[in-house]
Amino acid sequence: MNVLLLGSGGREHALAWKLAQSPALDTLYAAPGNPGIAAHATCVALDATDHAAVVAFVQGHAIGLVVIGPEAPLVDGLADSLRAADVPVFGPGKAAAQLEGSKGFTKDLCRRADIPTAGYVRVNNRAEAEAALASTFSYPVVIKADGLAAGKGVVIAISEAEAAAAFDTMFEAGDAPVVLEEFLDGEEASLFVLTDGVTLLPFGSAQDHKRVGEGDTGPNTGGMGAYSPAPVLTPALERRAIDEIVAPTVKALADEGTPFSGVLYAGLMLTATGPKLIEYNARFGDPECQVLMARFRGDLLAVMLAVAQGRLADLPAADFSDEVAMTVVLAAAGYPGTPRVGGAIRGIDAAEATGATVFQAGTRRDGDTLVAAGGRVLAVTATGSDIRSARDAAYRGVDAIDFADGFCRRDIGWRELAR
Ligand code: ATP
Repeated sequence: MNVLLLGSGGREHALAWKLAQSPALDTLYAAPGNPGIAAHATCVALDATDHAAVVAFVQGHAIGLVVIGPEAPLVDGLADSLRAADVPVFGPGKAAAQLEGSKGFTKDLCRRADIPTAGYVRVNNRAEAEAALASTFSYPVVIKADGLAAGKGVVIAISEAEAAAAFDTMFEAGDAPVVLEEFLDGEEASLFVLTDGVTLLPFGSAQDHKRVGEGDTGPNTGGMGAYSPAPVLTPALERRAIDEIVAPTVKALADEGTPFSGVLYAGLMLTATGPKLIEYNARFGDPECQVLMARFRGDLLAVMLAVAQGRLADLPAADFSDEVAMTVVLAAAGYPGTPRVGGAIRGIDAAEATGATVFQAGTRRDGDTLVAAGGRVLAVTATGSDIRSARDAAYRGVDAIDFADGFCRRDIGWRELAR
């Protein structure tokens, strides 16, 4: 079968690497892909916002499955356009992708379906925000811009002055939808569940590291490293999260005529009273996908096709290795501000010779040289029998790479290592 994978990040490199291991794969196409993905796929230039062009490509290349990696095309309804053309697609349609695209949508769904989450108020302008703050919330309070903001639309304000500063930014351009939330105390974990809209297939857990600096300091990023599984999400807590959060979400969306098909990524806060939903994403996390793929032993193409075709009930439980996987992101100097692009990257073969797998994100070829082309550049991924050996193996890979303009956090996994 021919498959089209949309995206160009480390997540998509990990998906391409795993899809390429499927015995059922004929040709993998990636749009736009990157130099790492090109080792497994034919990279093509396709504008994912031009749905007619994507459908025409799919029809012209006998594509049997489209895998949509990032959130933007999902929120934009590309999966609907493909389904309308009878193309099996891994990823939700526009209506269900609002779980990620609109925080207010998700909070309202939680209220309707009685799903544990932080108390909240939706507001549309500064006056409403100030009134809600005064009457409903204590500090710290969580203030979120509605809509996709790549992790940069959330402020945890510990005082009235900080809340006012957040409102200055969020209402700078005038009225805007904003969500105010109760602050939840606990440890965060990510849970992944595949669903075809009816059946759920638990697909592993992970913990990521959002801040750029060691000890979780500095500004937020797309993610500087991750490990899987997340032992803090014990089997009992995972069962509760599925029963109390994920299953009612999937049922509510199906009942409302907008079933969710794809991977549901639940960002959870493990509070003293149990797991609570912080957010949903409608796609795999990046870099969580890299560690999930490093542990997944099944046939990814077969599983994704079963999701796309509504046949998940026929499949056994997902087969994950008992090993721990860790990924460490190498980013270009300046990230998450303006990254220094163009710096040469050498030593990927040497890193892979240590046993690590190097997934590429923001890279491009400049003649014979691989150079940095974005903020997050590489995700160096390795497995081990426990968190320590996974960590040692991942950093052995990192240390074999020669990327003078790059940096990484040296403390990925610190929470788990400290336990
Ligand atoms: P990202 O794209 O990074 O996932 P986002 O813009 O979708 O971020 P959220 O995931 O909702 O926003 O929030 C970002 C981070 O803020 C969370 O990972 C969590 O650390 C913190 N956070 C969000 N909501 C709460 C809350 N109610 N209580 C405590 N912390 C919270």
